[in-house]
Amino acid sequence: MPARSQLTLLRIKGIRIGVDYSWFLVLFLVIFWLSGFYRDVLGVDDSALEPYLLAVASALAFFASILLHELGHAVVATRLGIPITDITLWLFGGVARMSRDTDSPGAEFKVAVAGPVVTAAIALACAAVGIAIAGADEFWTAMRVIEDPEISGVVALLAWLASINLLVLVFNLIPAFPLDGGRIARAIAWRVTGDRNRATRLAAMLGQGFSYLFIAVGLLWLVSGDLIGGIWLALIGFILAQSARGYVRRSEFSSRIEGISVADVMDADPVAISESTSVERAIDEYFLRYRWPWFPVVDATDRFRGLLVREAADAVPEPTRSQQTVGEVFELDASGTLRVRADAPLETLLGNDALRRLGGLAAVDADGRLRGVVTADRVGRALRDAVGGPPAPSS
Ligand SMILES: [Zn+2]
Repeated sequence: MPARSQLTLLRIKGIRIGVDYSWFLVLFLVIFWLSGFYRDVLGVDDSALEPYLLAVASALAFFASILLHELGHAVVATRLGIPITDITLWLFGGVARMSRDTDSPGAEFKVAVAGPVVTAAIALACAAVGIAIAGADEFWTAMRVIEDPEISGVVALLAWLASINLLVLVFNLIPAFPLDGGRIARAIAWRVTGDRNRATRLAAMLGQGFSYLFIAVGLLWLVSGDLIGGIWLALIGFILAQSARGYVRRSEFSSRIEGISVADVMDADPVAISESTSVERAIDEYFLRYRWPWFPVVDATDRFRGLLVREAADAVPEPTRSQQTVGEVFELDASGTLRVRADAPLETLLGNDALRRLGGLAAVDADGRLRGVVTADRVGRALRDAVGGPPAPSS
């Protein structure tokens, strides 16, 4: 998956949109290859400027298509209560990173299918506009890259964009986990077996099978003379194989911790600060006493509201600390990333970003009341116990 070397482009509703540096290679190749493509379709020679402009416009439109695909996943996941931390575009497309795994086969299916639906809609829209401008015959000619003086640059661009999105659609629907098609397969297996881990293992094994197929076909292309296509496919196969293997390992691990819930490992007697407490009291009676970097903040009915970190309290000027309340300076958990349901399986905490960043999370009940605090230490200990390590002393 994408390396850490990436550039943040923009933020959309709190989601960081970044590009991996490998993406610039794609951009360069696409522009280079497409200039030739447009010269062929339009029947012009090397000196014409139009093919280059069309190539740059196409590359940007392709970029936007992939981004919209990932935003499709992101919008549905967010609606289902699974915040997306970032979207990264890289060598082989895009990745929308969810802050946690889905919790039902239905949710898994909806999130997985959202991206391909967006891609299909883009392809159809391009075809519809292209046909409206040039007529069906003309558009079809452009789709087949046949040189024709009648074809305008815009129609050629729409035809290419429709084709590339169709290709992205088909590729993503291959049932090779973690591709979208593989996630759909996982959702179906999950619904049928009722077992998330078995479904993940099945889908990941299917993904491994496809990845070996990709590598084999890629090598076949390579020896038969298609250098670029062969290397590309084999590389995709190699990357798929790696991530599928990772998921197989993870699901084996997950099945060992089945039946353990967040409530089993949390500190069920957490120290929390009320919103109405003054900052002065928060510092004196909590931070100086317990020396923790943060505390959960609750309202009058014990509902979890967010966190107060030491730095935020310290940042309040001393003379005003007795007048300001914790409610004015704490970090509100608006997106729900700082909490986890106490009855959720322990597994949902694996790969949780907020847990890694803060070292702990608030555990809440169905009404959002604070029930405990779960720390990375406690989770780590529970995991070590589950995989049969030496019993750790409990605190
Ligand atoms: Zn997708």
